Amino acid sequence: MTTDEAATPDRRPGTGVALVTGGTRGIGLAIAEALGAAGWDLMLAYRSDGEAATEAATRLAANGVRVELLAADVSTADGAGQGVEATLERFGRIDALVNNAGITRDTLLMRMSEDDWDSVMTTNLKGSFLCSKAAIRPMLRQRSGRIVNLSSVVGLVGNAGQANYAAAKAGLVGFTKSLAKEVGSRGITVNAVAPGFIETRMTASLPEEAKAQLLRQTPLGRFGTPTDVAALVAFLLSPGAAFITGQVISVDGGLFMA
Ligand code: NAD
Repeated sequence: MTTDEAATPDRRPGTGVALVTGGTRGIGLAIAEALGAAGWDLMLAYRSDGEAATEAATRLAANGVRVELLAADVSTADGAGQGVEATLERFGRIDALVNNAGITRDTLLMRMSEDDWDSVMTTNLKGSFLCSKAAIRPMLRQRSGRIVNLSSVVGLVGNAGQANYAAAKAGLVGFTKSLAKEVGSRGITVNAVAPGFIETRMTASLPEEAKAQLLRQTPLGRFGTPTDVAALVAFLLSPGAAFITGQVISVDGGLFMA
């Protein structure tokens, strides 16, 4: 038995240590809850709202989940590195990375500033690159690991007013497939999930008419919940998903069908 295994003696089969970026609210928190319930140990990185993060971690710990918090901006090399280092320091290993941190700065291209473009690309796309780069080193040594990137239906079909966000989320599709090809032989899987409209703080400010139109286009006739997405991510980290890599899996109520 290695020291790492000794540190987590009662681990359930197929679980391990997961770093979830933006894991303290919205979809990220639901992912943390699903993974915690499955027996994963968790490092949750967040950028702001420390009080809500502490509340979330306290609730998870009360349910028996081994959870740590890290305030870090994962869109910087320092922040991404800290996320992985803190996970290794606290738990001795990293078995899964969920690149969930994301932001929007919606506006029509005519009005989109360079900062609107850069900040969305930096957080959604570069942040996933930086965190993955930091995480694959220990995963390569372990010869195992799982990475899940949060893309979006918008990255697959585009959306007026979201050229920056759509470009970043489409970029994640190419990134996912390329990395899956690079690390597959070392037992590491890399997949992306593409949620449709999910009710979180990110989508709360969407105009009512836009929401109504999206609802009409969704065959299942409802918006998604963070737990709909979390269930898919938990599956992709489970033993049952061991032969799935380089895929983009939609969880969107049928909004987009390839
Ligand atoms: P949210 O705004 O509720 O949560 C985003 C989280 O990311 C927050 O905890 C925030 O602190 C964190 N974050 C943002 N920038 C960060 C940074 N630089 N460093 C560390 N943490 C950072 O959003 P959500 O709706 O829960 O979205 C989660 C992910 O799912 C995002 O990548 C988003 O693009 C994607 N997504 C959401 C929807 C939706 O309808 N809500 C649809 C498709 C994809």
